[in-house]
Amino acid sequence: MESLRQKVRRIDGRGYPAYRDLRGIYRYEQFILYIDHVQGDPFASPSRMRVRVPADTAGFPADTHSNLSREIALRDYLTRRFSETCRSTQGRRMGSGKSGTIAIDRPGQEILERTSVVLADGDIEARFVVGLPAFGRRIAGRHAETMLCDEIPGIIATSLICAAIDQADLYRHIMTAEDADALRSRLSDLGFVAFVADGSVLPRRSGIDPRPAEGAGVVPFRSPERFRVAVTLPNRGAITGMGIPKGISLIVGGGYHGKSTLLRALELGIYNHIPGDGREFVVTSPGTVKIRAEDGRRIEKVDISPFITNLPTGADTTSFSTEDASGSTSQAANIIEALEAGADVLLIDEDTSATNFMIRDHRMQELVSKDMEPITPFIDKVRHLHQEYGVSTVLVIGGSGDYFDVADYVICMTAYIPVDMTAEAHAIAENYRTERQREGGESFGMVRCRIPLAESFDPGRGRRDVKITAKGLHTIAFGREMIDLSQVEQIVDTSQTRAVGRAIYYATRYMDGRRTMRDVVGAVFRDIEKGGLDILQERPAGDFAVFRAHDLAAAINRLRTLRVRSSDRPVRKD
Ligand code: ADP
Ligand code: MG
Repeated sequence: MESLRQKVRRIDGRGYPAYRDLRGIYRYEQFILYIDHVQGDPFASPSRMRVRVPADTAGFPADTHSNLSREIALRDYLTRRFSETCRSTQGRRMGSGKSGTIAIDRPGQEILERTSVVLADGDIEARFVVGLPAFGRRIAGRHAETMLCDEIPGIIATSLICAAIDQADLYRHIMTAEDADALRSRLSDLGFVAFVADGSVLPRRSGIDPRPAEGAGVVPFRSPERFRVAVTLPNRGAITGMGIPKGISLIVGGGYHGKSTLLRALELGIYNHIPGDGREFVVTSPGTVKIRAEDGRRIEKVDISPFITNLPTGADTTSFSTEDASGSTSQAANIIEALEAGADVLLIDEDTSATNFMIRDHRMQELVSKDMEPITPFIDKVRHLHQEYGVSTVLVIGGSGDYFDVADYVICMTAYIPVDMTAEAHAIAENYRTERQREGGESFGMVRCRIPLAESFDPGRGRRDVKITAKGLHTIAFGREMIDLSQVEQIVDTSQTRAVGRAIYYATRYMDGRRTMRDVVGAVFRDIEKGGLDILQERPAGDFAVFRAHDLAAAINRLRTLRVRSSDRPVRKD
């Protein structure tokens, strides 16, 4: 550290490029600092650094990282501590551009595996950025010295050393995550697609604030008797809640009674949540995919024939392409692509669906004959999906009772409390027959795999061979292409977007003209499981977060230059 101090003093007042000399490795009392990259000027992306705290110094007991759940939760917790400490210790600072900032990736309500803090043989490595300070383009050496020799050691001492951390708070974080993982891993054996614990708080503070809603108006979740089960978690012990069985479930109820809020909680039940979130024990099957209409998206040779045939253009819907999908064709493609990526649960909200994709009622069947309607509505395929592919569906439907005919379970939201109305709905279906014709045929229909072609991916831009960045949560800039993920609703963190962008490029190595989309994405995930998210980039990145195979496939499918070849192999039914 003293050598770093000397260097900083020496370059005080000089032009900004002299900061380059700082690159290197420095031993501090409690840790080693790696200055990996130094920014070119005070306005550029801040400099990238890492610290490594030896296991003995950090002192985290083995039980804080004795399995993957715990390890991820510990790393998440330390990232939060580090981030909070940065924000609370840093006042307003003089200087230009990013001068004076010290920052690490900042997690939200979800506990995600991140590269911001990693464990290496028990040592703790934190990756963060530092805005090396300057006035204009003159190095502010005194400030830099304070940052590097006082502030950074201070942040490490309060956020990465076990003795400085509130033990009860840390263990609550770890135990909560471990319990949620245990619950999620048992879902399938219990016959459920999802579980919502009694007492959960589902509504959020606002459409842009994902923290839990507060106040007297919040109605905690309470399971209907029929669906209430008790499960025993490794740390918390027995809890009760609603198990949503495999099959076809409807969430019905009046407008504003909490249907979409429940569905949103299920969408995010693929992730663990921090203590106090309200959705700690709302979990869904890891293969749960939210499906919605997404008009305007591109579709590349997707076999949407189970849902769409006989288009007026004569286009082949077993290999359907468009630059500008309609509501129904986009929703059909989203389902087929989800099957292709291995989804086992679909979540659909009428609010974001194409009506003509969801339902074609009796009167419409009388007026527009089947041979003039290309669309086979979802209602006539949802059963086949379950029987033939083992794919369950949870639907929010407030507008069409026709779905009672195909539902196994009907849950009615009544002033935010779910009520089992399966028997009533089935009785109504019996008493008021709709006379509508089933249009779905004998089976779902064969869906063929697609083979992505490597030459359709060009990550280069300008002089750079590979230029891939996340432009906020919803957009990946992949070379010169912009990938729009705004309708891929289960991506919740910009660090996921960033990692997905790199993963697309990484995936191209497996695109050999034979591997299907599922094979390619599967190969990427096998590598990630072995080597972590660090495999996605040559240099260590501190701002990647974990994503799912579905998200990677979704991003590839939305790349407008994507080209695929149809294969003869059917999409696996499992
Ligand atoms: P629906 O889809 O049935 O029309 P929403 O799920 O959109 O209804 O919910 C309507 C409003 O009620 C939203 O503002 C939501 O935040 C709020 N809300 C949802 N669930 C609860 C609850 N359990 N307690 C209090 N408010 C809730
Ligand atoms: Mg709604």
